Amino acid sequence: MLSTDVEEFKRERPEGVILQEGACRFCGQMSRIETLKFWEQEDVDEAVTELCDCPEAKLYAQKKKRKERAHKAIENKFSKEMREKYPPLINFLKEASDMLADDEVTGVAVDVGNGLKIKMKITAKGGDFCQ
Ligand SMILES: [Zn+2]
Repeated sequence: MLSTDVEEFKRERPEGVILQEGACRFCGQMSRIETLKFWEQEDVDEAVTELCDCPEAKLYAQKKKRKERAHKAIENKFSKEMREKYPPLINFLKEASDMLADDEVTGVAVDVGNGLKIKMKITAKGGDFCQ
């Protein structure tokens, strides 16, 4: 999440953080927030949207967080060698996990071969599950 990136960056380089104004992409609400100096307006708007209180933005932020968590889980699942050997597979799994987060599919199962099988589904708690 862009908004959490700022917090992490600020701890190490507070001088790289500035206030900028952006608009929520859903309701248009303007906010001044802390951003990184090199952000384009598009990034500022994205971060304002992540932090906005309107229902559409809240749902969007929830899904985005879920997607980012799933992408990390997928990357952690594979060793560095595997990630370099199968980039299209990793990208496919990330896209599939996005579809899961958007409720477009209820589960994904991939048989990679050599005994490696990947299964993903949304758990009852709403978290992603990758095994
Ligand atoms: Zn909004």
